[in-house]
Amino acid sequence: MNDTSKPLDAIRKMSMSDGKTAMVERYRNHFLKEVTDNVEEGEWVNMCMQCGVCAGSCPLGNAWAHPPQEIFMMIRAGKRQEVLTSDSMWMCTSCYNCIVRCPRKLPITHIMHGLARYAERLGLAPKNQPTRKFAMMFWDNITKTGRANEVTLGIRLYFMHGFIKGIKTALKMLPVGLNMIKTKRMSPLGLVAHQGCKGKNDITKLLKKAREIEEARMKKH
Ligand code: SF4
Ligand code: SF4
Repeated sequence: MNDTSKPLDAIRKMSMSDGKTAMVERYRNHFLKEVTDNVEEGEWVNMCMQCGVCAGSCPLGNAWAHPPQEIFMMIRAGKRQEVLTSDSMWMCTSCYNCIVRCPRKLPITHIMHGLARYAERLGLAPKNQPTRKFAMMFWDNITKTGRANEVTLGIRLYFMHGFIKGIKTALKMLPVGLNMIKTKRMSPLGLVAHQGCKGKNDITKLLKKAREIEEARMKKH
């Protein structure tokens, strides 16, 4: 972990512990209101008529513990812990099938991601869920310089489940990596000198400000 990641991690941890206690107290027994006030597009949950079209349209829904329709029903039933610790929101691939088909035009994809992010902020998201882990890795990677570093991201991803497994995956993916280098889609120099975007030093400041605005908005409710 380099220096640029420290302020972001500190902000994230602070928000988790402070936010967790405050939210539980403020919305005790009012989970729907909590979602409405704090989750991106959460106000739409109340519009769901439980027709099940989203669950039936989701290409991965069968593999989830709770497809969107069920998550929305659980929110309305006040099942706070079950919803916020669920790994279902982290399985959404943003294919937008559900949004296109929902007769009530709910922004389902955005709500699912909003719930995942909210659970993460409260420190309730399932720590070992693979797509959550990758999302966190990608966020850390891209916010360092404003541009994804495929080399370091790939290495972290391959070695996520241990050294031996990492070596095996790296060897398996070697032809893909070499082709990416050959076609200039990836540079091995990324390991030592990754080229970030213009104004990369402002990214931490920008994210800190965005977090402050979000915190202020949440305090209003
Ligand atoms: S398709 Fe829309 S209205 Fe129907 S269950 Fe899903 S979110 Fe609710
Ligand atoms: S956007 Fe997410 S929730 Fe909606 S159908 Fe696709 S994977 Fe399922």
